[in-house]
Amino acid sequence: MDIAQLSDRIIKGDRRALSRAITLIESGRADHRLQAGELMEAVKGHGEAIRIGLSGTPGVGKSTFIEAFGSMLTAQGLRVAVLAVDPSSTRSGGSILGDKTRMEKLSRDPNAFIRPSPSQSHLGGVARRTREAVSVCEAAGFDVVLIETVGVGQSETVVAEMSDLFILLLAPAGGDELQGVKRGIMEMADMILVNKADGDLKAAATRTCSDYTGALRLLRKRPQDPEGFPKAMMVSAQQEEGLKSAWEEMTALTEWRRENGHFAARREAQARYWFNEEVKQGLLAQLETPEAKAALEQAAEDVAEGRATPTNAARELLERLKG
Ligand code: GDP
Repeated sequence: MDIAQLSDRIIKGDRRALSRAITLIESGRADHRLQAGELMEAVKGHGEAIRIGLSGTPGVGKSTFIEAFGSMLTAQGLRVAVLAVDPSSTRSGGSILGDKTRMEKLSRDPNAFIRPSPSQSHLGGVARRTREAVSVCEAAGFDVVLIETVGVGQSETVVAEMSDLFILLLAPAGGDELQGVKRGIMEMADMILVNKADGDLKAAATRTCSDYTGALRLLRKRPQDPEGFPKAMMVSAQQEEGLKSAWEEMTALTEWRRENGHFAARREAQARYWFNEEVKQGLLAQLETPEAKAALEQAAEDVAEGRATPTNAARELLERLKG
């Protein structure tokens, strides 16, 4: 495959080239990994999308939201790509993130591009592939890249670390419980959208939204936020209500961050984060060879039976792996 040609076609906005590139990125073959690396170098720095991470448990309305929100954006002339980080290895029926059948209108929209999550059970692998897919979509001239995830395990962190804006989608809560949203997740969110603010659920949505407004106010003020952020808002993906206001708030926040240097700073911090992750993954992969596994097993036995101390055994093992 001619990578220079592929990257040229991507940068010109050729969708077939984009699909091919993502297939290449998703491949686990060693030669494909090298080519993907070359491609990433070639597209680096092209395009200027807003990357929006969207997290929410199954059933809160993520696909309904993406369908409605994405269609609203394309109606404004924007080009929208939808990607997903799906950490589950068992993917069945409606739980497939980014599944085209869940976003029928958007998947037929010439200004939208939807790509389901690669089928990989290993979150590290999914993370790398999605991150690279975000970059090629950006290079292909998309204005908005939406990255969807269910809040399972570390997937929220993974998505937040590749997004300019991280949005938490919630459903109206019954009673006054705060839906068990972990503090760490709240701290990552740039905006909370309470979906299903319609019909019988409107009153509950209003309560939930004001609960979260209060909860967000209690969090430490972050330098990357102007007055009033992070904020909670109500939307109805089904009735297509509140979507324009939500987008206005997102663009206002992005503008403010650009002007104040926080937008670039966040991307820099993310580049550092992913570099560190890659190094860690690379080091861990070195422990996965048959020789390393055998040496590890032997050293563990020596430690268990008192022939070596944990510290010395570890140091000797690492020395051996280096050589
Ligand atoms: P996902 O699992 O997060 O992708 O959620 P879906 O988009 O599949 O939606 C789950 C259910 O909630 C579906 O039955 C939707 O019709 C419903 N739903 C989604 N958005 C809304 C909304 O704004 N209002 C109401 N009343 N129902 C909604």
